[in-house]
Amino acid sequence: MKLSKQNLQPATEKIYDTIVVGGGAGGLSAGIYLQRYLLNTLIIDKGKARSFWMTELHNYLGLPPDTPGRSVLRQGKEHFLSLGGDLLDAYVDEIFDEGEIFAVRVKVGRQNSKYHTFRAKYIIAASGIIDYLPELDNMRNVYDYAGYNLHVCLICDGYEMKDKKVGVFASSAGNAEVVFPLGWFTKDITLFTQELFEVTDDLRSRLKAQGYQIEETPIEQFIGENHEMSGVELKDSRVIELETGLISMGSKYHATYLDKFDLEKQGGNLVTDKMARTSHPRIFAIGDLKVGLNQVVVAAADGALAATQIWRDIRRSTPPKTAFS
Ligand SMILES: Cc1cc2nc3c(=O)[nH]c(=O)nc-3n(C[C@H](O)[C@H](O)[C@H](O)COP(=O)(O)OP(=O)(O)OC[C@H]3O[C@@H](n4cnc5c(N)ncnc54)[C@H](O)[C@@H]3O)c2cc1C
Repeated sequence: MKLSKQNLQPATEKIYDTIVVGGGAGGLSAGIYLQRYLLNTLIIDKGKARSFWMTELHNYLGLPPDTPGRSVLRQGKEHFLSLGGDLLDAYVDEIFDEGEIFAVRVKVGRQNSKYHTFRAKYIIAASGIIDYLPELDNMRNVYDYAGYNLHVCLICDGYEMKDKKVGVFASSAGNAEVVFPLGWFTKDITLFTQELFEVTDDLRSRLKAQGYQIEETPIEQFIGENHEMSGVELKDSRVIELETGLISMGSKYHATYLDKFDLEKQGGNLVTDKMARTSHPRIFAIGDLKVGLNQVVVAAADGALAATQIWRDIRRSTPPKTAFS
């Protein structure tokens, strides 16, 4: 059922088998599997998933390559609801371990927000990450192109950049390393540093060896029309023409609600076993939040693994039904 401020009470009184934090590709996949294992599931999602910003899902078996992320999310939510799952648009603020049960504190409503607590035996953290973008005075200008031909994911969109004149916008020497795998797809690469980091002699000579350009002057704005970026204007008024771009500025991890659990991490990503279980036996992590490949197909598969392991745990701890019980 779609939950809202008006019908929350019964949901706050029950104990769900699982609460899934995040209703993107991973969370919805987990929810569909959990409901099909006859387990009660609540998905809490604050919206605007990474999948939501995906204008075209290019590489998912069975879907046309121009499928927008939004349609995948819409269809996934309808599917989950049709199986009797509960879905709430809200923000998970904090989680408390009460022993056998988790208490999940949720902020409901953007205006006149109220906090409510929901309970579950298991948690699936499917809250993903979000990409940092170049910080320009006019952020509208960045949103006009980011996710269109100003890409954020080499694995997703390397193919789209094949043999094109690409600008790479990096925020650190580590993030700038993406130019080298990008060189598999195109040789016409300019690295824009925007004076955000020092280009070491080593990096400079490796870029030169590949014939890549470096531009260190900060950007005034992206130029183009109809969401097609065609270059950048620099702060010194020079214009550099481009055919496409790749942003590599790192990501924000959506997992502060788990901070107190001190879960094992690698960088910002949660470490899990092969069934997506974290270092806490009743907390699972899936999709972009965990160590692995940031892809829809992986997030969906992680959801299947986590749901299946939770079903096994619950089934094995439930006494078998006899003919007389
Ligand atoms: C522009 C772009 C293009 C891409 N193209 C492709 C592609 O072609 N192919 C491909 O496979 N992948 C692509 N990706 C990557 C893909 O979108 C991600 O790998 C995938 O969405 C990860 O799924 P997820 O479920 O882990 O996270 P998400 O889809 O990001 O979902 C996480 C959800 O959790 C919610 N959330 C976060 N914190 C909280 C909280 N505290 N409380 C409640 N909810 C919360 C978020 O709002 C979000 O709705 C692309 C990504 C981008 C940005």
